Amino acid sequence: MRAMRWDNLTGDGEAAAPALFSTDAVVSRTFDTPEFRGITFHEIRARSIVNRVPGASRMPFEWTVNPYRGCTHACVYCFARKTHSYLDLDTGLDFDTQVVVKVNAAELLRRELAAPRWRGEHIAMGTNVDCYQRAEGRYQLMPGILGALVERANPFSILTKGTLILRDLELLRRAARVTDVGVSVSVGFTDSTLWRTVEPGTPSPERRLDAVRTLSGHGVPCGVLMAPVIPFLGDSPEQLRATVRAIAEAGATSVTPLVLHLRPGAREWFTAWLTRHHPRLLKRYDALYDGGSYAPKWYQRRITGMVHDLAAEYGIGPYEPGTHRAVPDPAPDPTDSPGPAQLSLL
Ligand code: SF4
Repeated sequence: MRAMRWDNLTGDGEAAAPALFSTDAVVSRTFDTPEFRGITFHEIRARSIVNRVPGASRMPFEWTVNPYRGCTHACVYCFARKTHSYLDLDTGLDFDTQVVVKVNAAELLRRELAAPRWRGEHIAMGTNVDCYQRAEGRYQLMPGILGALVERANPFSILTKGTLILRDLELLRRAARVTDVGVSVSVGFTDSTLWRTVEPGTPSPERRLDAVRTLSGHGVPCGVLMAPVIPFLGDSPEQLRATVRAIAEAGATSVTPLVLHLRPGAREWFTAWLTRHHPRLLKRYDALYDGGSYAPKWYQRRITGMVHDLAAEYGIGPYEPGTHRAVPDPAPDPTDSPGPAQLSLL
């Protein structure tokens, strides 16, 4: 077994004081099926599951549940990559292929929701890594998690790129009858060539939009986080129009654009990808990001304005607070330095 350091496994990735788990507490498995080839799952029994977000005042949610760490969707730009370094794993290939599974997530959640100190606040899921990534097909943690939330009529939101969410459609419908449920699917672009290289483990944008259509058609209103908008590769007026039109046709209740962030952890992996696939863009990226994590405000405003105009033209709205709480501020302040427990541009 690889030596790993198990820090704060309840959290969204905020590094806590190191606490080594006994390797006896971790069961590592591989599965010899095509979809899981080359991937190792580290099954652990977490100590707690409801996580308070550090610096929640900057985020539209305060509490999260994340049953996995690492993500086989393998998006090159994913800014949850950094969180793998707290386990002494690398933020590149290890993030895609070494997945921590909190196998007792549902049991813990049931217990924590029943605790007298719990006030029934909103819980956001999919805020660090995707709770409907492929591993969920095997481990099936989300039905238990949703069941626990439904039992307590606890409000929640889910942000995902995983069409596997449709497996839990009935549970989501039941939840929506008893509490406030927000579902957002992430689709940053519809260009299939770009998708294959930059989001290689995800369902295609078309399939994700089909999921939006199905959810909305079955009484689970669904917004789209249009993220990330990738400079020079997915930001032309034609591309933005095609994406917003497809989102509107899928029946999304809202669309919220978010420009690519390049924080440490994601930045190195993305730059290596850019060097392999689009070397001519390196200088333009250097100029736009200027060594930082965010595109400049003028660029973010331009993209946000264009998307909102297109959304109005196609009859869909922007993010409305309280409706799709998994969705972050569409134009984060580049002078902010948010902690790692942030949305991973799902
Ligand atoms: S961006 Fe989301 S779906 Fe993609 S690898 Fe990260 S957590 Fe997974």
